[in-house]
Amino acid sequence: MAADKPTAEAVAEQLARLREDYQARLPAELAALTALAAGFGGAESDRARLDELHHRLHKLAGSGGTFGFTALSARTRTLEQQSKQWLAGSLDEVEAQAWQSLAAEVAALGETLNKVSPPQAPAILSARDSLTSDETVQIWLVEDDASLAEQLRRQLESFGYTVRHFMQIGDAEAAAHTQRPDMLIMDILFPQQGENATEVLALRPILRALGCPLLFMSSCDDFESRARVARLGAAGYFLKPLDVPRLVNRMTQILDQLRAPPQRVLIVDDDVALAAHYRLVLLAAGMEAEALHEPQAIIETVAAFRPELVLMDLHMPNYSGPELAGVIRQHERWASLPIVYLSAETDLDQQIEAMGRGADDFLTKPISDAQLVAAVRARVDRARQLDAQITRDSLTGLLKHASIKEALEITVTQARRHGKPVTVAMLDIDHFKSVNDTYGHAAGDVVISSVAMLLRQCLRMSDIIGRYGGEEFVAVLPECAGGDAQMLMEDIRRRFAAIAFSYSGQAFSCTLSAGLASTAQYPEFSGAELLVVADEALYAAKRGGRNQIRTASPHPLQEADRP
Ligand code: GH3
Ligand code: MG
Ligand code: MG
Repeated sequence: MAADKPTAEAVAEQLARLREDYQARLPAELAALTALAAGFGGAESDRARLDELHHRLHKLAGSGGTFGFTALSARTRTLEQQSKQWLAGSLDEVEAQAWQSLAAEVAALGETLNKVSPPQAPAILSARDSLTSDETVQIWLVEDDASLAEQLRRQLESFGYTVRHFMQIGDAEAAAHTQRPDMLIMDILFPQQGENATEVLALRPILRALGCPLLFMSSCDDFESRARVARLGAAGYFLKPLDVPRLVNRMTQILDQLRAPPQRVLIVDDDVALAAHYRLVLLAAGMEAEALHEPQAIIETVAAFRPELVLMDLHMPNYSGPELAGVIRQHERWASLPIVYLSAETDLDQQIEAMGRGADDFLTKPISDAQLVAAVRARVDRARQLDAQITRDSLTGLLKHASIKEALEITVTQARRHGKPVTVAMLDIDHFKSVNDTYGHAAGDVVISSVAMLLRQCLRMSDIIGRYGGEEFVAVLPECAGGDAQMLMEDIRRRFAAIAFSYSGQAFSCTLSAGLASTAQYPEFSGAELLVVADEALYAAKRGGRNQIRTASPHPLQEADRP
């Protein structure tokens, strides 16, 4: 069911083919419409025929614009509305002359076929930048003060980043021929105020060619410098002396966006060609999209594909959009799944009525590719934000207590089914109370969020991380057990101890302890039971002197009770 990831060229080619097919089918469709309209006798007995005509006009009005036939779409819409109006009343009252003129206008629809707008391409290029692999993140640092650069490099490496240092932007530009950074951090000092900003202009193409998020550091806090940096497309501006945890916090936010999984969209539409077109446009924009033409399969499809948004046609044979929305809403799991109608229905009352029945918004066909992508993206982002507010802790962005426990149970169940191990790690900052007591609560918060950033940076995308309590964390590591998990946590422990925190000029460092428990050792245990033994191992680590990792073991003389 997972969507394949086509290249931009392949998508453009498929879109062009859909368009050609559509264009090739049009003359036959117009001939059929003309025949339908010509057959009117002018009475109530023609209701079925008019109903059929209306349905086909409606479909044509909705799809024509998408495939470049804007004029056809617009003209068809008027005729569709006319026939709809007649259907609402008694057909016996429609005058013969009106029938004839409708038939003539339907027959003349072919005249619009020479007016075809060129294919739209922009949505193909609008895929977001993304980090697709678990490889270490490459940070390029441009800083002409070598000792400062060395300090910063060491700090960033503690957080798990790989850092490459350049003295000048020109060196980075040259290096970009063979390698690309995931992010650039650059020291910047602008020429005197008011002077022509040629330097900024010269920088722009170089930075754009690097094609990555840009963060700037500077000792100037004036408006002019900030405006110039904004003009360069900066994702952040940091004053020297650098507050490294704040810088890393911003880096984590940016990387989270780049790492966000593709948005999943389900398209429900009886028009196969149109649904195929929408699907390709969304795929080209980096999303995952599925098209459903069989309304009866809606629940199975939603359960298997787990869309984050449903684009729902309004008028379909047998079942309507609002009916299908109603079926989805009957299931509590999908009570808040965003459903957006995408329909050629322009009647405001009908739109409002449809919205009242379980949907969130209404988009009108024809819709441009760019509009569709923007509308879907904005709504899924918003839904993700709302979800994050409920499930994520605001200081660290990690899953909250209840959510991490739930995720742990799901992961353990799935892993058991696939015969793969899972390790759960319980981490706790050592003597954290004294950090608060000595440097204040705010400094304590920085330490807590640093653990979170470190975990995110060092663990895989498939690992799940939560803030279990104040300064306690839980990491769930699928397909990882024994020595691997121990080594991974050792690495994190070492890196954390290397982070230099500073508070009002005083430098300090912290350590953490962790307890591990794996299904490899406890094959029958639930997630909650694994947590209990991981917590016991953590307690053993604390008793053993802190700043260490212990692995729970059912054999008492092995690791857990080592002195
Ligand atoms: P141990 O090495 O045994 O873990 O000792 P500890 O001092 O780290 O452990 P303890 O559980 O006694 O103290 C945890 C402290 O964490 C107590 C609490 O005030 C503080 N804390 C909890 N949540 C937060 C928070 O969000 N921010 C800050 N700054 N402190 C917090
Ligand atoms: Mg503690
Ligand atoms: Mg504690």
